[in-house]
Amino acid sequence: KLVSREFQSKNTVVSIGDVRFGGDGIPVIAGPCAVESYEQLYQAGVSAKAAGAAMLRGGAYKPRTSPYSFQGLEKYGLEIIKTVGREVGLPVVSEVTDPRKVELIAEHVDMLQIGTRNMQNFVLLKEVALSKKPVLLKRGLAATIEEWLMAAEHIMSGGNSQIVLCERGIRTFETYTRNTLDLNAIPVIKHLSHLPVIVDPSHGTGSWRWVSPMAKAAIGAGADGLLIEIHPCPEEALSDGPQSLTLANFAQLMAELDALAIVL
Ligand code: PEP
Ligand code: MN
Repeated sequence: KLVSREFQSKNTVVSIGDVRFGGDGIPVIAGPCAVESYEQLYQAGVSAKAAGAAMLRGGAYKPRTSPYSFQGLEKYGLEIIKTVGREVGLPVVSEVTDPRKVELIAEHVDMLQIGTRNMQNFVLLKEVALSKKPVLLKRGLAATIEEWLMAAEHIMSGGNSQIVLCERGIRTFETYTRNTLDLNAIPVIKHLSHLPVIVDPSHGTGSWRWVSPMAKAAIGAGADGLLIEIHPCPEEALSDGPQSLTLANFAQLMAELDALAIVL
């Protein structure tokens, strides 16, 4: 298989501008769950950059459990993230939920995110493969490591090998946390595949309180990067507020990682 270590023994390095996943550093992607306004994303972006984040994130098309929840600013959200990314000097990533929107989203962002609910949306995987943009492929919320790697195989065999895997927690019997962050998957993936793998402790835990310790644990397990949700005012966030770090708490986490001599 194309994603396997047998096929390629040396690590794939995914480059987005100066950012490298799978190289020596541990890039951190930070930003709000959803783009809510220019001001909100700009504040988050300036703080993310100042704290040492490598990329800015923000959803414009949100896959929400309830149809009555905020669904995202859609095209206007894409325009905001493109503008703010340029203004603060960070490459940007946003989620694509619909194969018909891949081209539009690819015109506005530097990396396409496939969310957990779409990991096995094979039509979408084929379309992002054709776009040639780097892809952030999140693990399905009930997907085995094998199924996750086969989803990456669909993208690679479709002609796009710029793939970063992202562990974001899986469904287990435990309900105290939103998901169970499967850090076993990190050394297992590094053994089975040459693709870089990052960890999202925000969705992995569902609560800001557990984000910092699990971010550090992820790096201990060998993660090639982190994805952290941040918000200028988490209590007022339109999605995923409870798991979002304040801008100050994010800066503190980044300083703590730096003090551990982690090259961000
Ligand atoms: C997100 O990154 O905001 C998101 C919806 O993630 P996931 O697909 O992992 O739930
Ligand atoms: Mn989210």
